[in-house]
Amino acid sequence: MTILAIESSCDETSAAVSVNGKIQSNVVATQLIHEQYGGVVPELASRVHQQRIVPVVERALSQANIQKNALNAVAFTRGPGLLGSLLVGTSFAKAFALALDIPLIEVHHMQAHVLAHFIDEHHFPKFPFLCLTVSGGHTQIMLVRDYLDMEIIGQTQDDAVGEAFDKTAKLLNLPYPGGPLIDRYAQQGNPLAFPFPEVEMPGLDFSFSGIKTAFLYFLQKQTRANPDFIAQNLPDICASIQRTLIKILLTKLRKAARQTGIREIALAGGVSANSGLRARLTEMGQEEGWNVYIPKFEYCTDNAAMIAMAAHFKYLKGEFTSQEVSPMPRWSIG
Ligand code: ATP
Ligand code: MG
Ligand code: FE
Repeated sequence: MTILAIESSCDETSAAVSVNGKIQSNVVATQLIHEQYGGVVPELASRVHQQRIVPVVERALSQANIQKNALNAVAFTRGPGLLGSLLVGTSFAKAFALALDIPLIEVHHMQAHVLAHFIDEHHFPKFPFLCLTVSGGHTQIMLVRDYLDMEIIGQTQDDAVGEAFDKTAKLLNLPYPGGPLIDRYAQQGNPLAFPFPEVEMPGLDFSFSGIKTAFLYFLQKQTRANPDFIAQNLPDICASIQRTLIKILLTKLRKAARQTGIREIALAGGVSANSGLRARLTEMGQEEGWNVYIPKFEYCTDNAAMIAMAAHFKYLKGEFTSQEVSPMPRWSIG
């Protein structure tokens, strides 16, 4: 069974082809235009998706060496994401499926981030597992019972952790998206140089807006005393803020694992590309006796391979979508 999958929820235009659940190609075109604006501009994002979707799909098909008429289904990200961006992928997929007279499969973007773990045929979590899903728009702990059966047992009550990375980076005058840059500078810094407060949240929920504000006041105070504070201390500042964000995430994950007794622990979403988070989670896994699963870098941030993977499981269950479908910018799991 051959599936073409399309991802366009935010600022990457991506297409992938899978055959019987094995990824044959995964083309990702990241939009660089947003860098100069310090964040994703929705209007620009949808326009760039429109320009890129045809060449990206063509490249995915040719890299997989698949002709259009060999496709059995077309999958697309229905949400959550930016409406204008989602519309491009959704409309394209609908037209493609209609023209080829093949089924259409809608995919939930966050479910797909979790299912990215099954791209690797040799190393994937066993059910039930916990997945810490950390990205630009989400921070959640999911209890995953089956491929398409997931429940959110903890989530952020305000900002996502990826947003916290990007916003602190912006305060440090680093370009968007700042998360990867914080990661890079942090590798040369002392994580204990500056202490930042951690907000206590009940249960398994998270909060990141407090630390962002604390970070802003910290920088204002330091730069008043020394205008060159940021330039002189960038690695230490990045290492310290990164350590705090990781600690908040992993303290809750450990609590969830102890509460549920689950030892299969997975990480997903764009922030799982963070080297400090990957290292600390691996360490914690050893301390706690977990089996830890971390996706390859290319499957952490947005990509259509994960959409193809989710679509594969939906195809097997006969879960198809009608031509009447429209995007769902806000769409919670379950
Ligand atoms: P969502 O999946 O919630 O809809 P999104 O699709 O925009 O949001 P992803 O592409 O999954 O998010 O992840 C992007 C986020 O990951 C950005 O906030 C980016 O800064 C962050 N990120 C990527 N690499 C790193 C890294 N090495 N360290 C920290 N953050 C990172
Ligand atoms: Mg992105
Ligand atoms: Fe994403």
